[in-house]
Amino acid sequence: MGAEFCTVLVEGIFYRDGADRLMVDQSGTSVAVADELRPLDGQEILLALHYFPLTFDPTLWGGGSCQYQSAGRCPAGHHQEPGKMLSVTLRGVLRYEDEGWGVTAADGTRTFVPFEHAIGHRSRLVAISAFNPLLADATPRSPADIERLRAEATRLRDFLTQFQQHARKV
Ligand SMILES: [Zn+2]
Repeated sequence: MGAEFCTVLVEGIFYRDGADRLMVDQSGTSVAVADELRPLDGQEILLALHYFPLTFDPTLWGGGSCQYQSAGRCPAGHHQEPGKMLSVTLRGVLRYEDEGWGVTAADGTRTFVPFEHAIGHRSRLVAISAFNPLLADATPRSPADIERLRAEATRLRDFLTQFQQHARKV
């Protein structure tokens, strides 16, 4: 059995803490992005990063995701393009290298995940193992195998349910 099936779903305001770690404030509880992504390091994944305002309002910077509007200047450029929305989808092998998270596609192109644009903005990060555990080892050999596959299927179902509930809010 290879890498374990894994999902990541965090949403909130991205920021750097005093130790320069990339964090997400999820309504008062902060998580480190590195802690969330580490289980997926080296795995083939699908990753999405986008602005995710609590309530989408097209008259506000980034649809309401931008925390810099009252300051009048946004590092992501909302003072010049108020309607700009971050929306990135990447598929490939996730690796932390050169002090940043990047995804290497099948053609060898490496793209940094543009977390800097998420800082100071209410955003959502989704990452999911790209392989299907139900297909990767489709011949269960023991009751424990069957139980493991069932547990993984349940985790996938719960993740997708949670994702749909989040998506419906937009
Ligand atoms: Zn902004």
